[in-house]
Amino acid sequence: MIGIIGAMQEELNVILKEVKDLKEIKLRIRTFYTGTISGKEVVVVLAGIGKVNAGITTSILLENFDVTSVINIGVAGGQNGVSHKDIVISKEVLYHDFDVTKFGKYKIGQVPGMESLFYADNTLLELTKNAIEKLNIKYKIGKIATGDQFIYSKDSITKLNNEYDDVFAIEMEAAGIAHAATLYKVPFIILRSISDLIDDETQDNDFDKFLEEASKNAALVLKELIEVI
Ligand code: SAH
Repeated sequence: MIGIIGAMQEELNVILKEVKDLKEIKLRIRTFYTGTISGKEVVVVLAGIGKVNAGITTSILLENFDVTSVINIGVAGGQNGVSHKDIVISKEVLYHDFDVTKFGKYKIGQVPGMESLFYADNTLLELTKNAIEKLNIKYKIGKIATGDQFIYSKDSITKLNNEYDDVFAIEMEAAGIAHAATLYKVPFIILRSISDLIDDETQDNDFDKFLEEASKNAALVLKELIEVI
């Protein structure tokens, strides 16, 4: 079945409405919603905000359900030429606040013992690219970077941007999900829609202003993707 994770209720509302034969399964600290979308079995879960919520929720999901793809939808801060409501599709995911570069042998974001990036599944990436072409939504394929901060200035992510020029979305959960999915060897992809633009003077207001519409765009892409998975 397809595992769908969101950090905030607003990010899951549109996709939850699409679930047929919805059943609620409570497993200690998280509630899972199972059912079908376009005839495909899905399980949807609200993770909460931040890396730890993302990691533990993905782990509970993968320990308890027969999940063959993990998909995270939601919003993110944008940079490097994206606009509000555009979609960023992860090719790779990394932490921007995991930093052991001082030891000389690691890249920014790299967790010792792991590769420097978490790689999204190539098949899911190709399917998403085809799916999004059917919608009138602008998109970029590249890196998504995660940290436990709401980023409003590029000054706080200079190491990241000095290392990579294709990080289009900054948010707070993707790498936690990607990290867990990678450890469990389950394919993943992250679909984030831009709610706010980093260093933009209206960024604070934009998050609230675009949260719903951006969330809807990410859910629309997911719905198209589920059709072809
Ligand atoms: N408004 C919420 C807090 C939102 S935190 C509250 O009051 O509880 C921001 C959320 O949106 C996170 O889940 C993160 O993944 C995403 N996000 C959107 N823009 C972001 C940005 N500029 N920096 C970091 N995360 C961002």
